[in-house]
Amino acid sequence: MKVVIVGGVAGGASAAARLRRLDEKAEIIVLERGSYISFANCGLPYYIGGEIKKKSALTLQTPQSFKSRFNVEVRVNNEVTSIDTAAKTVTVRTAEGEYTESYDKLILSPGAAPIVPPLPGADGSRVFTLRSIPDTERIREYVEEEFPDSAVVIGGGYIGVEMAENLKKAGVETTIVELSDHLIAPLDYDMACEVHQYARSQGLNLVLKNGVTAIEDNGGKMTVKLNDGSIETDMVILSVGVRPDTVLAKQAGLELNARGAILVDSHMLTSNPDIYAVGDAVEVTDFVTKQKAYVPLAGPANKQGRIAADNICGIPSEYKQTQGSSVLKLFDMTIAMTGVNERAAKAAGLDYDKMYTFNQSHASYYPGAHGISMKVLYEKKTGRLLGAQLIGYDGVDKRCDVLAVAIRAGMTASDLTELELCYAPPFGSAKDPVNYAGYAIENVLTGKIKAFHWDEVASLPRDGSVTLLDVRTPAERENGAIEGFTGIPVDELREHIGELDPKKPIYVHCQSGLRSYIACRILAGYGFDCWNLTGGYRFYSLVVKETKAMEHPCYGTK
Ligand SMILES: Cc1cc2nc3c(=O)[nH]c(=O)nc-3n(C[C@H](O)[C@H](O)[C@H](O)COP(=O)(O)OP(=O)(O)OC[C@H]3O[C@@H](n4cnc5c(N)ncnc54)[C@H](O)[C@@H]3O)c2cc1C
Repeated sequence: MKVVIVGGVAGGASAAARLRRLDEKAEIIVLERGSYISFANCGLPYYIGGEIKKKSALTLQTPQSFKSRFNVEVRVNNEVTSIDTAAKTVTVRTAEGEYTESYDKLILSPGAAPIVPPLPGADGSRVFTLRSIPDTERIREYVEEEFPDSAVVIGGGYIGVEMAENLKKAGVETTIVELSDHLIAPLDYDMACEVHQYARSQGLNLVLKNGVTAIEDNGGKMTVKLNDGSIETDMVILSVGVRPDTVLAKQAGLELNARGAILVDSHMLTSNPDIYAVGDAVEVTDFVTKQKAYVPLAGPANKQGRIAADNICGIPSEYKQTQGSSVLKLFDMTIAMTGVNERAAKAAGLDYDKMYTFNQSHASYYPGAHGISMKVLYEKKTGRLLGAQLIGYDGVDKRCDVLAVAIRAGMTASDLTELELCYAPPFGSAKDPVNYAGYAIENVLTGKIKAFHWDEVASLPRDGSVTLLDVRTPAERENGAIEGFTGIPVDELREHIGELDPKKPIYVHCQSGLRSYIACRILAGYGFDCWNLTGGYRFYSLVVKETKAMEHPCYGTK
């Protein structure tokens, strides 16, 4: 059997290695357009910022190492320009000329290309995109040799945010311009607010809800023209997203979706019985909503490569959908998510609710504990977990991974309460933040508490028909309080219970949602109809503050 693989990085290299492990006799040829195979795309921004010092650290394999370990023939600088599905051959272009290569089975793993929007000036010499090692070298050389003072990163997705951090670390004043109202699209706006405040505290300038209309470069400073205003800069990084790189698949007549992603079945087989496709080039099904989706991530690409190889070797393994688990670092902050966000849940018509919690990453008495902001989406009727977003500084990734497994296993919020997770003071708490999220949701689902959220606070009546109660201490209230809320510290609540009208619904908050929960249980014992602000004043105030800042006419300008 002869298998030809187009693309020698995440999906392609994974497929090649698995094929060899399953079939010692197969002829396996990897054709890679670029000069490198199996390189660490995900590490590229950190080479620009200097965190990864040696370029060699980015190249995980070479054609020679692949040959000696796997007996796979890797041909770099070999671009496949067409596929003849009838003859079962590919045409390959090299510096020396063209040739054809036959195949019994073909695997396409061509990845995704950065989107270059049709903006005047987007093709300028000081406008960069980041996909490959040569792209990375170009950016690093420019930073090291031209000493730019400033950079504008257009697009606040993962790559944009990682690039912004790394340019800042390389000493370049950096502004991120993002068309939507928040960075990192898989986060909801409210969770992103915490990221915005932190990003600014680290010296990044954010211009949100504003689009780029043109890039002007007449030597000297460039001008990035916005819908509203303009920014002077020395360089521009374009990171407005990626599109499946599927010119080849289209030419071969494979079925694509409207976005150009290749349609595959669960075995990664395309519409052609001899061609498989994997990675950033293919459409996937969302694990939670079961709707079609496009989720270009390394984990799915690597797994799909392995699955395509299995199927070619007669093992009918299946790719069981994508849930978008992802994580990124922003200076010292970790941001992680899995499953659906509110936007996706609404679009899919899911009857969901949400819970915000804020628990310490490990026992608070042990040094180095930090709060983890957690937002968990669940199905109202069943408690099934739908998605989670987490932000913090320590232990965020492991909590997100636990939630990713819980979602994959179809668990409910109540199941989270039963998870026995490892504990010692430097690592966690006897009741882990994940357990707490389960308890908080279970309390709502079992009617022990009613929850309200930050976005409902403004519309609560201030006409005396309901009681608004802040159970924090006077010192805490002095640092900021929500208008209309009366203060009675939770520890004094029983003494003051007679001052409250049990006939009126009572809306309670504290700093994080924990003391107000205790207050609600006390009040419930006295017959009150009680509501608890999830995430507490901390979360409410940071979202409100950020929202107000964004509405200010000077927002994002230096
Ligand atoms: C800067 C950056 C940071 C990232 N960080 C993360 C991260 O932290 N976590 C994460 O999950 N994902 C991350 N990703 C995404 C991840 O790298 C991709 O999801 C993954 O590499 C996709 O694998 P793939 O095999 O589909 O495509 P790729 O790994 O991109 O490989 C495709 C290869 O195919 C080659 N090719 C294309 N067409 C042809 C042709 N006609 N002939 C020959 N060769 C061809 C290309 O040159 C390319 O080398 C990042 C991506 C980038 C660019």
